[in-house]
Amino acid sequence: MSTAQIAIIGGSGLYDLQGLTNINEIDMQTPFGKPSDTIVTGELGGKKVAFLPRHGRGHRIPPTSLPVRANIYALKTLGVEKIISVSAVGSLREEFKPLDMVVPHQLIDRTYSRTQSFFENGPTVHISFSDPYCPSLSQLLFQTASSLHSKTHEGGTMVVMEGPAFSTKAESHMYRTWGGDIIGMTALPEAKLAREAEICYSTLACVTDYDCWRDSTEVVSVDMVVANLNKNVETAKRIVETIVAKIPMGRNCDCENALKDSILTARNSVDSKALEKLGLIISKYM
Ligand SMILES: [Zn+2]
Repeated sequence: MSTAQIAIIGGSGLYDLQGLTNINEIDMQTPFGKPSDTIVTGELGGKKVAFLPRHGRGHRIPPTSLPVRANIYALKTLGVEKIISVSAVGSLREEFKPLDMVVPHQLIDRTYSRTQSFFENGPTVHISFSDPYCPSLSQLLFQTASSLHSKTHEGGTMVVMEGPAFSTKAESHMYRTWGGDIIGMTALPEAKLAREAEICYSTLACVTDYDCWRDSTEVVSVDMVVANLNKNVETAKRIVETIVAKIPMGRNCDCENALKDSILTARNSVDSKALEKLGLIISKYM
């Protein structure tokens, strides 16, 4: 019996979830260390839900230092099958305006200082990541978000940069030529690790600024991000609370079989220590 089937990972500005009942606060430890903060579990819309503030309460942890593997592992331990992640992002397109919402479909990785996999020390695992977001969950997220917030965009490519500094103008223009629509600092490796853990993953991205490519606008600053975040966070909470009730039990996507044909190491060559550490994720294939 799982503790939670659905998890919400709150980004900048979203540090709690209203409407949860039967609340428990769990202080977890994983083979990858402690998650960003205690995980709050409870019931919402008839579903068992876990909530984790990505940066910790008080926004203590910067993007590069996030314990992403511990976060995803802890949620997997609770039985989570579906994650809605909420993120503040900058816009790289005129039509993605501050205070708009985006449910992105694609990612470009510009991080360079993060561990990207549960399997860095083996076994050798190559997951398929051509479509980094769960299509079913993303479709439901877009339907829900657009019904509550008319300025919601379906699809889009998110550039994930290392940070913590914002982009240079040259970089911001380059990302536009690459096809980037929005830019953030946290979707990776979160989305990759969720896929490795066979958890469905979707993102609700809240646009706070125009980064720094747009000549006629003030360039992005923390003040600007926080001001627009505060305007957006109630909308984001309403969307999250509404979608939880709508998420069906069970799955009709491929996320739950992501590792099925992805493990290259011969089963009898998998190190027993790795198996002990990663059993939660790979034991069904061993
Ligand atoms: Zn899925």
